[in-house]
Amino acid sequence: MTINNLVNEYFIVNQEKLKKFENESNNIKIGIMGGTFDPIHCAHLAIAEFIRDNYKLDKILFIPSGNPPHKDRNITDKYDRYNMVLLSTINNDDFIVSDIEVKREDKTYTIDTLKNLKQIYKDAEIYFITGADAICDIETWKDVEDNFKLANFIAATRPGISLLIANEKIKELKDKYNANIESVYVPSLDISSTYIRNQLKRNKTIRYLVPELVEEYIHSKKLYNSGE
Ligand code: ATP
Ligand code: MG
Repeated sequence: MTINNLVNEYFIVNQEKLKKFENESNNIKIGIMGGTFDPIHCAHLAIAEFIRDNYKLDKILFIPSGNPPHKDRNITDKYDRYNMVLLSTINNDDFIVSDIEVKREDKTYTIDTLKNLKQIYKDAEIYFITGADAICDIETWKDVEDNFKLANFIAATRPGISLLIANEKIKELKDKYNANIESVYVPSLDISSTYIRNQLKRNKTIRYLVPELVEEYIHSKKLYNSGE
């Protein structure tokens, strides 16, 4: 089966997962894993699974960003990024991909996504998962205080980001915004999308750093100058 056929098939399976979940989503705990996912890599998946298990979350919704306001480099087409998330998550019943942000034409802000999710999943408790780097930057987000009103935040440790500094920042945010944020140790995986893109640019291997199907997708679409 070609990778395009696989994407089409998985798209349908994922939509079914999503619909089923919307109908049974009262009093549940949803983890949100947001990101540019350019491309998604194994650390994203490992963190989501680790936190789902630790916090007994019912499902993790992966939300690839549409047109993120903060990234100024040339970002890969949002549907390619979405497809790669789809290919990575389909074999985990507790992972679902949401197209809530990629569907939007204008810039996407987390606050709008959270409001939207609150409408869809009315009684759900939302846990927004970030890495320690993202929580340190959160005050650059739109309507930062409102984000904290709508969701709990879980900040995963990240190699290269000082735990001391991250914890200080978390304490400051909790005091300033009455925010609900927890820092959680996750097994360190020093992988970033930037590293993956650089490896590909230099024709170096990314095997085992991203799921096999993501690697296949990248090569078949010649993303990140691979295969040139
Ligand atoms: P880039 O290098 O392009 O910024 P990235 O690897 O940081 O890519 P993003 O899509 O920016 O990936 O990140 C989505 C979320 O995952 C963010 O909250 C980020 O902090 C978190 N994250 C990504 N990689 C890791 C990692 N290795 N450990 C902990 N958190 C991570
Ligand atoms: Mg990042």
